[in-house]
Amino acid sequence: MKKFYSYRFAAIAFMVLATAILMTTNYENPTKAAETPANPLLSKWEGPYGGIPPFDRVKIADFKPALEAAMAENLTEINKIANDPAPPTFENTIVALERSGTTLSRVGTIFNIWSGNLNTSEFQPVEAEMQPKLAGHFDKIVQNSALFKRIEAVYNSPDKTKLTPEQQRLIWVYYTNYSHAGAKLDAAKKARLSEINQQLAGLFTKFNQNLLADEGGKYLTITNEADLAGLPQSLKDGAADAAKAKNVTGWIIRNTRSSIDPFLTYSDHRELREKAWRMFIMRGDNGDEHDNKGTITQILALRAERAKLFGLPTHAHWSLQQTMAKTPENTLKLMESVWPAAVARVHEEAADMQALADKEKAGIKIEPWDYRYYMEKVRKAKYDLDQNEVKPYLQLEKIREAMFWVAGELFNFSFTKVDNVPTFNPDMVVYEVKNKQTGAHVGLWYFDPYARDGKSSGAWMNQYRNQDRLDNETTIVSNNANFIKGKPGEPVLISWDDATTMFHEFGHALHGLSSNVTYPTLSGTNVATDYVEFPSQLLEHWVSTPEVLQKFAVHYQTGKPIPQELVDKIKKASKFNQGFATTEYLASALVDMKLHLAGDQKIDPAAFEKDTLAQLGMPHELVMRHRTPQFGHIFSSDGYAAGYYSYLWSDVLTADAYEAFTEAGGPYDKKVAERLVKYVFSVGNTIDPAEGYKKFRGRDPDTAALMRKRGFPVTK
Ligand SMILES: [Zn+2]
Repeated sequence: MKKFYSYRFAAIAFMVLATAILMTTNYENPTKAAETPANPLLSKWEGPYGGIPPFDRVKIADFKPALEAAMAENLTEINKIANDPAPPTFENTIVALERSGTTLSRVGTIFNIWSGNLNTSEFQPVEAEMQPKLAGHFDKIVQNSALFKRIEAVYNSPDKTKLTPEQQRLIWVYYTNYSHAGAKLDAAKKARLSEINQQLAGLFTKFNQNLLADEGGKYLTITNEADLAGLPQSLKDGAADAAKAKNVTGWIIRNTRSSIDPFLTYSDHRELREKAWRMFIMRGDNGDEHDNKGTITQILALRAERAKLFGLPTHAHWSLQQTMAKTPENTLKLMESVWPAAVARVHEEAADMQALADKEKAGIKIEPWDYRYYMEKVRKAKYDLDQNEVKPYLQLEKIREAMFWVAGELFNFSFTKVDNVPTFNPDMVVYEVKNKQTGAHVGLWYFDPYARDGKSSGAWMNQYRNQDRLDNETTIVSNNANFIKGKPGEPVLISWDDATTMFHEFGHALHGLSSNVTYPTLSGTNVATDYVEFPSQLLEHWVSTPEVLQKFAVHYQTGKPIPQELVDKIKKASKFNQGFATTEYLASALVDMKLHLAGDQKIDPAAFEKDTLAQLGMPHELVMRHRTPQFGHIFSSDGYAAGYYSYLWSDVLTADAYEAFTEAGGPYDKKVAERLVKYVFSVGNTIDPAEGYKKFRGRDPDTAALMRKRGFPVTK
C-alpha cells in the first residue's frame, strides 16, 4: 500500500505495509446511495489533473464512516486476492495488491493532512479513535496467512528471473516488508503484535496532541513595550498579531520554533529570553495533563516487547533492518565519529561568545538562553554579517520563485499557478508542474506557508498522490511551513535558515515530482528512511548559488539584488555556528538511538536523557534540538524512531554529491544534474539506494565531504 505520511515526521505509522494503494477504483457510497447522501471522502478524486483532493467538501464527521467503509472495502479486496483459486503469479498477487486499497489511500491521505495541519479539538477524538483501528486493519492484512503464502510463492518462484528488474525489486520489497511487519510470526505472536501496534497508535496520537496543546496553549505575553527591546519590527508585528488573534492586550510570543528561535536571537531582555527558552524546552514536560513522559515510557516498553517478538534484541535492531545503515552499530560509528569535532567547536563558539559578553561587561556566564543571542553578536563581530541586513533581501515569494527557477535548470520543470483547485486553507496556493520542454503535465504542488493553531510546527512535505505508470497516476505534493503572515500587501521577509528550509522541503517535493516508475509502492519518496533526506538536503545547497542570489535575493523595497559584498560575507560565514547546529542535532540523534537500544528495561525519560547527555559530555550551553518529551519525530509515529540519525547519514551523501557538481562545471552542470535525476530523483525504490548512489557518483560516498561541509577537521 501507499505510505501516506509526511516528512519531517511520519504522522501515521503506515510505513510497515507494502500493499499498494492506488487511486483508480471508483468507490461509491457503501451504504445505499439512494437513502443517504454520498460521503465525499469516499468518492474518486474528480476534476482536472487526473483528479484532485476534494478539500472543499471535507467534513470531520465524515472521516470515521469513510475510513470504516474504506477499510471494509480493502479487506474484501485482500480476501479476494488471498483466496484466488488460481496459482499465485506476479500479476494476480503483487499487481493485484498494488491495485488494492485505493479508497483507503484517498481517505487516509486527507485524514493525515487534517492530523498535521488542522488538528482541532473537533478532529482530535476522531483521530484518537481511528488511529488504533487503522493500525489493527493493516495488521489484519499483513497477518493474512493465505495472502503471505502467495507472496512467498511468487518470491520463491523460479519464474521470477524472467521479470523486469523493477518487478523483481517489487517482489523483494513486498516479501521483506511483510516479513518485517510480522507475516512470518506464529499465531500467538501475531495476536500480541497487533495489540501492541494498536496501543502504540493510540499513544502516538496522545503524544502528538499533548505537544500541540503545549505549543498552542502556552505562550509568552508581553505587556510593556520596553520589553520588546532588540526585536526587529517584523517580529514585533507578528507578536502583536498573535496577541490580537488570542484577544490578549500586548504582544504574544508563540511556543513554536518559528517564534521562539528569533525571539532568543534578538531579545535584549535576558530574563524574558530565559522564560521563553524554558517554556519551549519544557513542552510535554510540565507535570500537567499534557506531560508526555509517561506516554514515552509506555511507547518504549511496547517497542522493546515488539522487537522481542521478532527475536531481536532491541527496537533499534528491528527498525534498522530496512535501512541503508542496516545496523545500529553503523549509525553509532558515524555519529560518534562526528561528535567530538562538533563538541570541540561548541567550546570554541562558547569561548568567543563569553569573550564578547565580557568585553561588553555583561557580567554573565553564557547560558543556553544566551546562545542564539550572542551567536548573532559574534557573527556580526567576526564576519561583519547581520542577519537583519540579509532579511530584507529574502522575500518568501521571491524564494519560492527561486526554487521554481532552480527546478527549471536542474529538473526541467516549469510551474504555473492554477486557480481551479480547492485547498483546505484560503492562504494555500497550487501550481501545476510541467515539463519545461514538452509542456507535458508532471503533477501538482500545493504550498501552505503560514502558522495557525492546530498545525504542527516546523516545515514538511506531504505526498497526496504517488506517480506510477501502472495506471498513469501523476504526483501531487505539498510543502507546508509556519511563517508568520505579514500585513496585507507587505512581503513576508524570512531568515537565511528559513530560506534553506524551504529549499529542503522543496527537495522532497521534487523527489516526488521526478518519480518515473511503474509501481506505486516503489514510487518517489517511498525509499529507505536514511536515504529520503538526501535529495532534500542536497537541494539546500542551491540557495547560496550566485545565480539564485543575484536573481531572487532582491531588496523588498528597492528591488536591488543583494550586494556582492554581503554575499561574500554570507559565504565566509557559512560554516559559522556548525558546532551548535551539529551538536544540538547529534545529541537528539544519539539519545534516540540509545533509547531504542536500551531493550526492555523500564525507561524514565527524564533520567535517561540526563544520564545519556552526561555520558556524552554534552556542553552545558545548549540542549538537544528535540528534548525527549517533545521529540515528535520518534514518538508521534514509528517513522523516525531509532531513525533520527538519518539526517546525518543522508548528509554524508549530500555533501559528497554536491562535490560532484563543484568538481564538474558548478551547481548547474547539466550532465551531473542529468545523472542526479536519472539515478537518484526519478528511480524511487526501484533500485538499491547504495547502488543508485554509486551509479550517480561513480563510487561510494566519502565521509570526508561531510566534515569539509561543516568546517570540521578531516582526520582520515
Ligand atoms: Zn526532510
